[in-house]
Amino acid sequence: MPEPVRVRFAPSPTGHLHVGGARTALFNWAFARHHQGVFILRVEDTDRSRSTEEYIESILEALAWLGLDWDEGPPTAGYRQTERLEIYKAQADRLLGEGRAYRCRCTAEALDALRREAQQCGETFRYPGTCRDLAVPASEPSALRLRIAAEGETVVEDAIHGRVTFDHAQLDDWILVRSDGTPTYNFCVVVDDVTMQITHVIRGNDHLSNTPKQIQCYAALGYPLPLFAHIPMILGPDRSRLSKRHGATSVQAFRDAGIVPEAMLNYLARLGWSHGDQEIFSREDIARHFDLAQVGQAAAIFDRAKLEWLSMHWIKQAPPERLAAQLAPFLARAGLPVPPDRAWLGRVTETLTERSHTLVEMAEKATFYVRPPAAYDPQATARFWTVAAHARYALLIKRLEAQADLDPATVEALYRELAAQLGLKLVDLAQLTRIAITGTTVSPPIFQVVSLLGKAETLARLKAALAAAGARS
Ligand code: GLU
Repeated sequence: MPEPVRVRFAPSPTGHLHVGGARTALFNWAFARHHQGVFILRVEDTDRSRSTEEYIESILEALAWLGLDWDEGPPTAGYRQTERLEIYKAQADRLLGEGRAYRCRCTAEALDALRREAQQCGETFRYPGTCRDLAVPASEPSALRLRIAAEGETVVEDAIHGRVTFDHAQLDDWILVRSDGTPTYNFCVVVDDVTMQITHVIRGNDHLSNTPKQIQCYAALGYPLPLFAHIPMILGPDRSRLSKRHGATSVQAFRDAGIVPEAMLNYLARLGWSHGDQEIFSREDIARHFDLAQVGQAAAIFDRAKLEWLSMHWIKQAPPERLAAQLAPFLARAGLPVPPDRAWLGRVTETLTERSHTLVEMAEKATFYVRPPAAYDPQATARFWTVAAHARYALLIKRLEAQADLDPATVEALYRELAAQLGLKLVDLAQLTRIAITGTTVSPPIFQVVSLLGKAETLARLKAALAAAGARS
């Protein structure tokens, strides 16, 4: 293992952080943490027409939300490709000076014509080397091409796929710098990886076909190769490449759907990596156990149900105050008042964790805590608002008014006593109370709910129900 390990995540800011990108970021982060190495964030923004500041912001925000902290990268200068143009130019000049690269003056039209010809013959286009030995002078408009051996093969020793061989018949003298002076993507990646002293290139399988080209460039520059690891693709349930067609694919979309970050991270870790049959991993667990040897070759299938199951798991594990902080924006987004008392909201979340897969669900279930019911469920009232309901509400109000302290045990004792006196089952009084408080017959344990809601609010809701039930009977 080269020491120290230096890995990078190199997103192109042409969109939000996709689950595939997030998983690549996670694997790099975990590999770095596992080996006490360095995790670098590099922004590949040379495609100026498609890169935006908003996407850079959004990617950084998504990484921060996942808790994937980088050791080198923005906001420090020098980690965006657009800030590194001088470096590419210096390396390009060096390659030209050493005869490893040459100027090519072929026009786009001439190359297009050759491309069409190749297509007509059913062949893949390869640059025929027209300008290879022409020593095109600097004064002529020209691109810079890498000189590579026309014959032979380039082998990628991949940590996941093993030996992958590419025949040079598939490669050509590719362009390092376009005629307008802009460096190409593959050239920038290699120059960045060597100058940033990257030891392991861990990236998506979709880049495997770029790797032989890049290996040729390392050789021309005279730098040793990093270790390559191309991680398998993520597919949708129909086994086609995961895309918007399959629903949410960006990390932001899952965050907005109320998936907690711990669950997202846990889920991403298991997309292509395993550690025995363990399913639950905290961020620390991932860093502790992650290894490329356990990354499989097979594509991973995205399973939303499993992600939600993990989200429920991590919601249950979360300390109440943290959950309260996570829930607050979801209450606000649902147009609900956000209780200022976080400790109280934390206790509220404790009553809701059993049934919430997401924070959106939890906000929905928390509605009655922060807002009285707008209506009463007609099925519930048809069943429980009998002629006796009015009197029972009145009694409940009287007893609760007499209580100074509404801790759950006191409330339960009070209900049991009243039910016994009236010859009722506890559930009858409980359901009347649920209807008053939530408008429905479903809620977390009702004595806890009454206790959390407090005396004034509980009484107000019981009185409103008493009036409504009275008006009906
Ligand atoms: N910028 C590339 C992407 O967003 C990654 C390149 C690499 O990892 O080598 O897919």
